Amino acid sequence: MVATAPLDIPAIQPSSRVQEYLQSPRQALINGQWQAAASGKTFAVYNPASGAEIAQVAECDAEDINQAVAAARKVFDDPNHAWNTMTPSDRGRLIWKIGDLILEHADELAELESIDNGKPKAVAAAADVPLSADLFHYMAGWCTKLEGNTIPISVPYAPGAKFHAYTTREPVGVVGQIIPWNFPLLMAAWKLGPALATGNCVILKPAEQTPLTALRLGEIMVEAGVPDGVVNIVPGMGETAGASLAAHDDVDKIAFTGSTEVGKMIVNAAAGNLKKVTLELGGKSPNIIFKDTADLEATIAGAASAIFFNHGQCCCAGSRLYVEKDIFEEVVKGVTAAAAAIKMGPGLAPDTEMGPLVSDEQLARVTGYMNAGVEAGANCVTGGTRLGDQGYFVAPTVITDTRDDMSIVREEIFGPVVVADPFDDIEEIIDRSNDSAYGLAAGIWTRDLSKAHRTAARLRAGTVWVNTYNIFDAALPFGGYKQSGWGREMGHEVLELYTETKAVCMGL
Ligand code: NAP
Ligand code: MG
Repeated sequence: MVATAPLDIPAIQPSSRVQEYLQSPRQALINGQWQAAASGKTFAVYNPASGAEIAQVAECDAEDINQAVAAARKVFDDPNHAWNTMTPSDRGRLIWKIGDLILEHADELAELESIDNGKPKAVAAAADVPLSADLFHYMAGWCTKLEGNTIPISVPYAPGAKFHAYTTREPVGVVGQIIPWNFPLLMAAWKLGPALATGNCVILKPAEQTPLTALRLGEIMVEAGVPDGVVNIVPGMGETAGASLAAHDDVDKIAFTGSTEVGKMIVNAAAGNLKKVTLELGGKSPNIIFKDTADLEATIAGAASAIFFNHGQCCCAGSRLYVEKDIFEEVVKGVTAAAAAIKMGPGLAPDTEMGPLVSDEQLARVTGYMNAGVEAGANCVTGGTRLGDQGYFVAPTVITDTRDDMSIVREEIFGPVVVADPFDDIEEIIDRSNDSAYGLAAGIWTRDLSKAHRTAARLRAGTVWVNTYNIFDAALPFGGYKQSGWGREMGHEVLELYTETKAVCMGL
């Protein structure tokens, strides 16, 4: 059993504005109305820093999903509805305004995200909130640029005939979106931004652990002027609300972010009406440090941040650290020192650098992996323990002396736990990096440009960071090879996945 080390956690009250928001049960947004679940049920949301209940939220199930899908369907199927007659320019302005309103409410959103998810408010304010706003601003610009092509055709069985052929891009229709708890507001933005830019109607189910900022974003969308029924936000459990959304016959596409295991269930559920599916799933990303890395100190800081950012609760976390043999000891020493120096505490404390994990379930999962690693013979250089006896804190952890077949090396831990292992040569490390069911991201640290490009080309991953890590931008596509997913988020690539291409061919 992994021991519990003490941790002193100051109790910090949220601002009166946030306390007020949390006082009454938060409701679902269906057809422009805030309403209780049809069953009348609610569920509790907890502050992961204390384990204390902070809010009650409508627990929607199949009945509420039916209502939300019907509302979205009605809007989408009505060619005269304001959403469908709006010019692309006006739609762009509306989406831009959502980005502006997010920035206007940045402090409140960062605070809400912090007490709901556990992450430091300062991090939410520096990353989650501005990235969310930027996503809407970026997508706003695409509304006027969703162009088709005119296509010269040569039909062999119609000699001499003339045609005018062109393509148009149309919204897919009614889209179900299911998101996880690690970046609750940002995942909502990644999903809603492109869906709205391309003219779809949406039903979004936030994670049961972290529904608060998605619901607050719903209010912002209403304030921005999103017409009733275009965006529906339906909190509830995955097994009920999520499953019925994924299986619904009137839903044209389902977009999911979460575990690979649930991703496979989504694919099965979607088979009934063959709705389109996009998936952004887990990862076990290799972060490779060559001995010719330019600046060892910056590299060590980068390797530490690759795993410890967001408490390791990142699908792209650099959780397999591979270091060329000559500098292995030095890098492990540096990452260990960085781990030990991280200031742990509740997200609302201004000096907190790492908060708690999101839930007791994640705490059990992550400490379970720590135990499994030690039992299998690995060496815990630092960390390896729960911290304190309240909330869901674990110590940033560095593990060495692993074998490639250990569960801590093969499976996604989704916590601040890195396994570090030395390597001898480039072919060996490319093979070991690719020896994974996942293929989401990878890191390379070297000053040799040609080695960087050659290695990047060989790694089977949707994102490769060179001499940096965890860089995200609304313009940069993100998604996975292999069991890390189907399709891409962000960039113009995502727009393909929210549109159908129609070919129109006219005989002249
Ligand atoms: P999860 O179960 O995959 O949850 C993701 C979303 O799917 C949540 O909204 C969840 O709802 C919903 N869901 C669950 N079961 C469903 C079903 N049968 N049909 C439709 N939707 C369903 O992830 P988790 O249990 O929260 O976390 C477990 C592990 O997943 C983590 O330890 C981590 O390894 C991985 N994970 C990956 C990512 C990522 O970004 N790729 C994010 C989160 C977690 P409820 O939460 O309301 O039940
Ligand atoms: Mg669940």
